Amino acid sequence: AFKYKKLNAVTKGCSDYVSSPYSLRVFQWNILSQALGQMNDNFVKCPDEALEWNSRKFRIIEEIVEYCPDIICLQEVDHFNFLKHVLGTQGYTGVFYPKPDSPCVYITGNNGPDGCAIFYRTNKFDVINIESRILEIWRVQSNQVALLANLRVKETDQEVCITTTHLKARQGAFLSTLRNEQGKDLLQFVSEHSGDRPVVICGDFNAEPVEPIYGTMLSDESLALGSAYADCDSSNKNSADREPPYTTWKIRDEGEVCHTIDYIFYKKGSLEVEAVLELPTGEEIGEDRVPSFSYPSDHFSLVCDFKMGSQKVQAS
Ligand code: NDP
Ligand code: CA
Repeated sequence: AFKYKKLNAVTKGCSDYVSSPYSLRVFQWNILSQALGQMNDNFVKCPDEALEWNSRKFRIIEEIVEYCPDIICLQEVDHFNFLKHVLGTQGYTGVFYPKPDSPCVYITGNNGPDGCAIFYRTNKFDVINIESRILEIWRVQSNQVALLANLRVKETDQEVCITTTHLKARQGAFLSTLRNEQGKDLLQFVSEHSGDRPVVICGDFNAEPVEPIYGTMLSDESLALGSAYADCDSSNKNSADREPPYTTWKIRDEGEVCHTIDYIFYKKGSLEVEAVLELPTGEEIGEDRVPSFSYPSDHFSLVCDFKMGSQKVQAS
């Protein structure tokens, strides 16, 4: 049974909420691209109206701002301008990096390519630099990307390196090999740009904990990563066995798909996991699963509170 330390409730009204300079709340979510969700995914139990952008867009915003995160990492973003505009009113700014050949652009009525986005609280962080990468597989560019932001906490001068990615989808041994190769390139990319900053790497890895990439992420010697959800539970020695039971749960024509493929990895030692948001129960989700009127994406959001240090204190 999974027993997480639960997230502390945060006061409502995110726009002027200031979190502690020693805490870092990271929000991770594959929001489900509007073009793919409406035209490609074929969620057979989801009412068409629940996928209409004009109402779904506000449910996406609501899901994000209700947790007052410091950092927001999103995948399948095909309405970046809308998110930037609305999240801008709540104290965030952000960056976007599209997939080179997004499947969205081949869909009638699309709103451009989908990609990864990072938003951060402007009253908490200054940006140092932003880097992006088209992930390579055996030195050849793939159709998947990573986006990295080095940020500095204004009040403490503490720096952090935030990276998000969305790896190749679909099942199969070969695809799992491709994801593992993308993961190696991702780790190389983060190592190149993170310096000795605390590191968070989160995203939709499209891989269950049994896939090679999970072990690859946790065995990088210089980054020394742990998985935040797994490390918030001490019931089992094996990290893979401590992951949540699912991070996505949908019904397509082929049947029900329920698995854990989204993660928040972090550099152990430099950040400490304080709490995570629990996944909703099967009962809360409902028998038609997601997306639905209650949950705007087929993925659930992950939220983690980290404790971080201070450059200023360390220096004095
Ligand atoms: P991926 O294989 O990584 O998947 C692309 C998207 O499809 C992901 O966002 C993924 O969501 C979603 N997806 C996964 N499983 C299904 C499913 N069973 N039904 C519907 N959607 C699903 O794609 P690539 O970026 O590597 O691009 C390749 C794919 O894109 C090809 O399969 C092709 O169909 C399409 N494409 C078409 C082009 C064209 O029409 N000319 C050009 C370029 C791409 P999640 O990660 O949440 O699982
Ligand atoms: Ca998807």
